[in-house]
Amino acid sequence: MTDRAKAADDLTALVAQVRACRVCADSLPLGPRPVLHVSPTARLLIASQAPGTRVHETGISFNDASGDRLRGWLGMDRETFYDSRRIAILPMGLCYPGRMPKGGDRPPRPECAPLWREKLLACMPDVTLTLLVGSYAQAAVLGPGKVEDRVRDFRAYLPRYFPLPHPSWRTGAWERRNPWFTAEVLPALRAAIAPLLAPSRQVTTPQQHA
Ligand code: SF4
Repeated sequence: MTDRAKAADDLTALVAQVRACRVCADSLPLGPRPVLHVSPTARLLIASQAPGTRVHETGISFNDASGDRLRGWLGMDRETFYDSRRIAILPMGLCYPGRMPKGGDRPPRPECAPLWREKLLACMPDVTLTLLVGSYAQAAVLGPGKVEDRVRDFRAYLPRYFPLPHPSWRTGAWERRNPWFTAEVLPALRAAIAPLLAPSRQVTTPQQHA
């Protein structure tokens, strides 16, 4: 068996374990439903926060207004965005974590990334660039720091990482106050991902969608 075929088998088995995970079920108001899009040939990884209610309902990451904004930043249609042979989407918390008492979603469950993240990444050896979308993904990978500072300083994290704000509705006003994001960051983002979007090699297993 080739290394690539083994990685595909390992990933299939691992995703089955993830789907069966109930580790923090008692803390999840809608129950476990891990949402992830992975494959052994993905070259671009979108490291995000956690599913919202619409993503939980549909089982499709970024299947909401935040996703529309993110796809706009990437200059990417839905077909490309959800082609997990090329693009993996892996939130820091795989299940919807619920709402805060004063509004807004709760943070990703802290149990989740230590349990699953490194194992899943080990089965995606071709990932060369990771988009760190929002504060939780950035804190987990880069440590403490301000999102805006990191986005401004995005060149310091290339070629391995590209920090981005979370594309929530609040970010629209932030974008208008910070025109450098549209003028400088987005063209660099599109240039960084373009080489990773070429048609992928043959995959030996189906894409893994939750
Ligand atoms: S959030 Fe993560 S650890 Fe908790 S049940 Fe879902 S997959 Fe398991």
